[in-house]
Amino acid sequence: MSNKHLIFIGAPGSGKGTQATKLVQEASFKHISTGDLLRSEIAKGSDLGKEVKQVIDAGQLVSDDLVIRLLQANINLASSSYIFDGYPRNLAQAKTLDENVLKGAPSLAVYFEINTGKLVERLTNRRTCKDCGSIYNLVSKKPKIMGVCDQCGGKNLVQRDDDKEEVIKNRLSVFESTISPVLSYYQDLGRLMRVDAEKSVDEIFNQISSKV
Ligand code: AMP
Repeated sequence: MSNKHLIFIGAPGSGKGTQATKLVQEASFKHISTGDLLRSEIAKGSDLGKEVKQVIDAGQLVSDDLVIRLLQANINLASSSYIFDGYPRNLAQAKTLDENVLKGAPSLAVYFEINTGKLVERLTNRRTCKDCGSIYNLVSKKPKIMGVCDQCGGKNLVQRDDDKEEVIKNRLSVFESTISPVLSYYQDLGRLMRVDAEKSVDEIFNQISSKV
């Protein structure tokens, strides 16, 4: 069976976004990140955006209802294969994704396994291009010219507000307390693949590619 859609599950900083970018470039997937959708809502400066920002900056989860509405409004399952990045975050969202979005379309959940102790350093050094979304790390994946995006040449490499150490700790603890039923859900359905997120970008990419 070919897996039409991929569902990326992993702690913040486990490399989901990096792999998604590569799969978009090399295997014509579409990448849908609920975190990105929420950040663009914030960028609009709407009342909703302001409310969302408070929740995100505290490292907590935004309501299931709001996130599924945003997700539904931004996908067209009939025309593309998607990588769901950052959704589902809890068991209720996993069931909603199956029942209201995928509705039987083939999919594989990919769990990026990593020791969360390593993530605080990864995340505090993460910089994102505000113009094209490319992800850098000031220690392991520096841009060629400091402050300039290798991909689009933009000069907007920023640190996300929620990549500050205090918030990261909350995000990791929220992840750890909500994700285990999600993993069991996909495991029981025979739809879970585990990858070692400490391996190199290319090794992980090859492992995922072999299943799609
Ligand atoms: P991310 O970019 O995936 O790390 O998401 C950043 C933040 O957006 C998270 O810490 C949550 O506050 C919020 N968020 C993203 N996806 C979801 C989701 N599926 N459910 C609830 N909140 C979410």
